[in-house]
Amino acid sequence: MPEGDSLHRAARRLQPLVGQRLEVESPNPRAQVTGVAGRVDGRVLESVEAVGKNLLLRFEGDLVVRSHLRMTGRWRLEPRGTPRTGLPWLVLRGETYEGVLWNGPVLTLEAGTVRRLGQDVLAETFDLDAAVARLRGARDRLLGETLQDQRLLAGVGNMWMAEALWTVRVSPWARVGDVSDEVLREAVAAARRLMQESLATGRPGRQVYRRAGRPCLRCGTIVRSRGQGDDNRTAYWCPACQGGGVPPGE
Ligand SMILES: [Zn+2]
Repeated sequence: MPEGDSLHRAARRLQPLVGQRLEVESPNPRAQVTGVAGRVDGRVLESVEAVGKNLLLRFEGDLVVRSHLRMTGRWRLEPRGTPRTGLPWLVLRGETYEGVLWNGPVLTLEAGTVRRLGQDVLAETFDLDAAVARLRGARDRLLGETLQDQRLLAGVGNMWMAEALWTVRVSPWARVGDVSDEVLREAVAAARRLMQESLATGRPGRQVYRRAGRPCLRCGTIVRSRGQGDDNRTAYWCPACQGGGVPPGE
């Protein structure tokens, strides 16, 4: 799943189109039925920003196109008129460039404000105390799952959850109610810092994600993995150096 940092990259990529009146079309029939292209065709694109895992394209007239990329969606910026095979979901054609959305499974049009999301973990101004307070509201849930709840904190997926909790040596299976404010602060701050570093360097910086069955890079114990939460996202953790909780039934 594309994480918040890849959405920020996509938002950056599309900046050359901002301020232009765009020709918008949906070559893909599945996207055409959303009616999004017709509503924004011929309007000025006012801004593109990543909020959590959503890319929000604001058009004049208070229209916001929300693109959630799920597993497969990709935004590209290409010179206008680039020949292509296949049917992109959306083409935003400007004077010199066109933004092209491939396989964007979620494409919706919203007037005005967007459904409530937590703070964007990569926002320039980020209120760490407010983020911790919001996570605190989920006392009875598991830390790993809670960090990925976009209503509480937007932008963190299972890769950065795993990396952040490994960094601060806490188990994704810890209950939020059993974790101190200080640890919650460190975990959120670690997710933010790791994602910022990845954004700046272009490197994923993985220490534990997808390393199940291999030795922990810190202590040598074999890293484990197990599905967690309603969406059964895979958690990766070191059972020796990440304390505070074990999977249910163990
Ligand atoms: Zn370890």
